[in-house]
Amino acid sequence: MHNDLSLFTELAELLISEETNQPVAAPVDTKALYKTLDLQLNDEPTIDDEFKSILKDIIKHTPKTASTSFFNQLFGGRIPRATLGDLLAVMLNNSMYTYKVAGPQVGIEKILLKKICDIIGYPDVADGTFAPGGSMSNYMAVLMARDKYNPSAKNEGINNTMTLYTSEASHYSIAKNAAFIGVGRQQVRTIKTNDRGEMLSEDLDVKISKDIEQGFQPFFVNATAGTTVLGAFDSVDNISKVCKKYDVWLHLDGAYCGGVIFSDDHKHLVNGIAHTDSFSFNAHKMLGTPLSCSIIVTRDKKHLYESFSNEAEYLYQTNDDDFNLGKTSLQCGRRNDALKLWTLWKSVGNNGLKTIINHQFKLAEVARNYINNHPDYRLYSFEDSISVCFNYKDIPAKKLCTALYENAKLMVGFGNFNDQDFVRMVTINSVLKEKDIINFFKTIEDFAVSTDI
Ligand SMILES: *Cc1c(COP(=O)(O)O)cnc(C)c1O
Repeated sequence: MHNDLSLFTELAELLISEETNQPVAAPVDTKALYKTLDLQLNDEPTIDDEFKSILKDIIKHTPKTASTSFFNQLFGGRIPRATLGDLLAVMLNNSMYTYKVAGPQVGIEKILLKKICDIIGYPDVADGTFAPGGSMSNYMAVLMARDKYNPSAKNEGINNTMTLYTSEASHYSIAKNAAFIGVGRQQVRTIKTNDRGEMLSEDLDVKISKDIEQGFQPFFVNATAGTTVLGAFDSVDNISKVCKKYDVWLHLDGAYCGGVIFSDDHKHLVNGIAHTDSFSFNAHKMLGTPLSCSIIVTRDKKHLYESFSNEAEYLYQTNDDDFNLGKTSLQCGRRNDALKLWTLWKSVGNNGLKTIINHQFKLAEVARNYINNHPDYRLYSFEDSISVCFNYKDIPAKKLCTALYENAKLMVGFGNFNDQDFVRMVTINSVLKEKDIINFFKTIEDFAVSTDI
């Protein structure tokens, strides 16, 4: 192992220097991939020097998500203390289903969940778990709701009259999960948004009442904290009133921006969160832990047990169920995703988490100010968002983003809202400085001049 640990250190050092020297790896065309890199698996072993050199090649050609030029996704950057936790979790290699096998790691996960439930104002009976990602957190939420409102579904299967509601700007996993839980995509009602991409609770009310009239059984509403394109926040307060009126489950998908709960300055964006039935967020997005780190909590842990527990004598050989996390999880064997969040939180404290969140909003403001002060740009996104959407000099967004990528200048993506295409830069990497944001725009401007785009 020691040899491999020193090899790991050498490779990690290479990665870190590549991130500075070549922040956007020159893309390899898929057609050339297997010719460029030796990825083949052979009968004979690969000798050490060659093995190392292949790994170095792979590292060089892999996109650098922690570089100062990566704005492409809803995650990015590297916070060393969180990475340390994940590296340790790999070395420890526990499985989180029982206390017997994971020991104190279970305590770490439980403390995190308890803190999160307290922060959002859930009652003492609340609890949660770590899911394999935001889509799966949403899946767990809608499944708990299905089982609450249709308890026979678990054993007898489902009819097709249950309906669920989510805004047109929400994540695609909602429709996918409707298929997974047997309710079906056709039973997903898409709620209109205002011109900032926030769900219209009036439209929600109308659609639910119409469905009831027609004999459907509305059971689940998904609100979003940080929509995928604009980074908009649905009004949890308004939506929760509608949910209460009709007695349906309210889930808040905070995969992208649920991290605002850690900042006194921004948590007003999820006002009313204590009235939700479940809430999820990805710590690997706003909090900057390595992928994946997704948390789902629910206001009453009985829902977790009712939907996810199974008796299994071969597994649960000690009694203390509260510490046997396998009874409330989606998987059986489960990776330790908790430790990286704990090492981060323990080392920076509540105040440090707040600083991370606030800095992202600050960087977004820097970006919006730059755009507003430069006539060649046009802004399409709004305050209170860390997605900054814009166009530059009427260059089609897709063309610009693709050219920047192919020429290894910047990693940034594009999006669409109300039939308008635009570049979407995301200021989620809290390690970046204001100058990195300015540099982002300068890179675009220099590139546009130097090429004939
Ligand atoms: C990223 C995201 C998801 C999906 O999370 P994964 O971890 O990628 O599965 C769901 N909802 C929203 C709003 C997101 O931004």
